[in-house]
Amino acid sequence: MLDIFKKLYKGALSEFWELTEQKLKNSQKMFIVTANPEIFSLANKEQNVRDMLMDDDTTIIADGIGVVKGAGMLGINVAERIPGVELSEHLLKTGNSLQKSIFLFGAKSDVLDLLCEKIKVQYPRLNIIGSCDGYADDKDAVFEQIKELEPDIVLVALGVPAQEMLIYKHIKDLGRGIFVGVGGSFDVLSGAKQRAPEFFIKHNLEWFYRILKEPKRIKRFYNNNIKFLFEVRRLKSKK
Ligand code: UDP
Repeated sequence: MLDIFKKLYKGALSEFWELTEQKLKNSQKMFIVTANPEIFSLANKEQNVRDMLMDDDTTIIADGIGVVKGAGMLGINVAERIPGVELSEHLLKTGNSLQKSIFLFGAKSDVLDLLCEKIKVQYPRLNIIGSCDGYADDKDAVFEQIKELEPDIVLVALGVPAQEMLIYKHIKDLGRGIFVGVGGSFDVLSGAKQRAPEFFIKHNLEWFYRILKEPKRIKRFYNNNIKFLFEVRRLKSKK
């Protein structure tokens, strides 16, 4: 797990925005994983998740405050968290000003429709080159379509780690584009679900708000975060 922490992007959010903008401008390929404690715990159990994260071509950013704090406990300084939903917004905005194309893959079809409508209004110069909801049986076929269309931005919202593993499976065969697994971001960006109020975001309590809103998340949260914390403590004591 320590090697994954070491591989985290350490700069500020604004620097990361610049980096992604450059990649977009130059039509370079990039695969971004927005890491939360859950993916760290999964990597501990599953070799294929570890391989995906440790690949030289995978960029990992700290989505949750737990990851930033965990890194800090291990002496790794990560400037700040870079929330996946903000990364999605940034890519929509930058893609719009650079007149790029986007493919949206994931979420329920009504959520996806809402999001497409919103993008057309708010980011009219961003070309939605294709979209598919996240409940298609053959998800590899969707990537075949992506390969042909060559979008500049591909947001995949299927949940962790399915979205990352699917991107990873196909990324080597893709020529260009920024690929990000964005989890529940389509639900928020479409307006179907609300992001936490400013207070929760500012005080790094967004995770708490999500549990309040969706109590069924508590078991998943507890399992992943407690395991994560134990693992960080174990690593710290070994240092
Ligand atoms: N989802 C999907 N297909 C599936 C399972 C999930 O498109 O087979 C979508 C779901 O509709 C939601 C997103 O994936 O929009 C996952 O959201 P969640 O909040 O669980 O994300 P995470 O906590 O994993 O970031």
